[in-house]
Amino acid sequence: MTNYFDSAATTTVDPRVLDEYIRATEAYQANASSVHKLGLEARKAFEDARRRFALALKAKEESIVFTSGATESINIVFSSLLRNPSPGKAIISSAEHDAVSSFIPVLKEKGWEIDIIHPKKGKISAEDLYARLDRNTKIVAIMAVNNILGTVFDIKGLVSAVRKFEKENGKKIFFFSDMVQALGKIDFSLEDMDVDAASFSSHKIHGVKGCGALYLKNSATFTAISRGGGQERGLRGGTENIAGVLAFVKAAEIYLKEKKERDERVKKINSIIRNGLEKEGFKILSPEDSSAYIISYVSTWPSEVTIRMLSDKGFYVSGGSACSNNSKASGKKILTEMGIEGRDAEKSVRISLSKDNTEEEAYNLINAIKEIRNV
Ligand code: PLP
Repeated sequence: MTNYFDSAATTTVDPRVLDEYIRATEAYQANASSVHKLGLEARKAFEDARRRFALALKAKEESIVFTSGATESINIVFSSLLRNPSPGKAIISSAEHDAVSSFIPVLKEKGWEIDIIHPKKGKISAEDLYARLDRNTKIVAIMAVNNILGTVFDIKGLVSAVRKFEKENGKKIFFFSDMVQALGKIDFSLEDMDVDAASFSSHKIHGVKGCGALYLKNSATFTAISRGGGQERGLRGGTENIAGVLAFVKAAEIYLKEKKERDERVKKINSIIRNGLEKEGFKILSPEDSSAYIISYVSTWPSEVTIRMLSDKGFYVSGGSACSNNSKASGKKILTEMGIEGRDAEKSVRISLSKDNTEEEAYNLINAIKEIRNV
């Protein structure tokens, strides 16, 4: 897709991944739960994929649960929490995607105390988090990379603060991190970060849509909420999406392998856009040290108007979070919660990059932005 600057919402499918999807669809037509030869072959391919995904993420294979996407992964975590007969305190960042934040009212209804932690100048400090922990705290949910501004949070440092509190108080706190916009974009090791759970999505890394993963450090101790089927150790019932998972794993392997080269290219395009916008006097909302893949700025017009005008010129951007249905309201809310003024949030536009973008496209985008400013 030419002039596509909305890769934080979804990416194009890598042709090598599409080949794998087609190959796997044809090769594994049997149900992976069937005990005949074809079923066993499908099971083997599926479990091999789990092993490869775990290896790519430097995790144990029993920690990986394949799902239909990050939203489902997040739902498994929070729905399981809601079954806890004795609610406690949940510390949740105000930067979270709708998939997480939509659980806040439900948790409150079930008697949970909710403590919203707001980033200050684009950061959530380990000291601030530590100061909020108490003996009632049961879960902390902080994403690794925000999907609107690209803000990167220091998950390793934040988890360390939680583990320190655990040691001092002899109490276990569950740390969940939504890592959808981090996979293949920032360097991390799940084991080193020591999170208890993390969510991932295939369509953000040039895989097919409708596929994702949940990392669960100790899946054996996790309460299964899914009824029927019993697949994925009861955590996610339903016939496995073998081709989708094999394509996802291929996408993850390619994405991680090509990270360095892609990062360099994306950083260059990011700086062309950032410098171009700054030169034209636009306010950039994304912090300097945010993910190179996302730049949000304040446009002249309300977000939807700018998006439409650019779309008419053949450039595709988004405002707020285009990956959730009620994007306008939730995107603006997240931005204001992250310290962006309401008027700027109304006019915010997100430009998100991928391996597909070229420098020429970046210059053309800046020209198009200049043109629509003067209409
Ligand atoms: N979390 C973040 C940070 C996202 O950007 C998205 C985007 O859609 C999601 C979760 C939901 O992912 P999925 O579409 O795989 O459910």
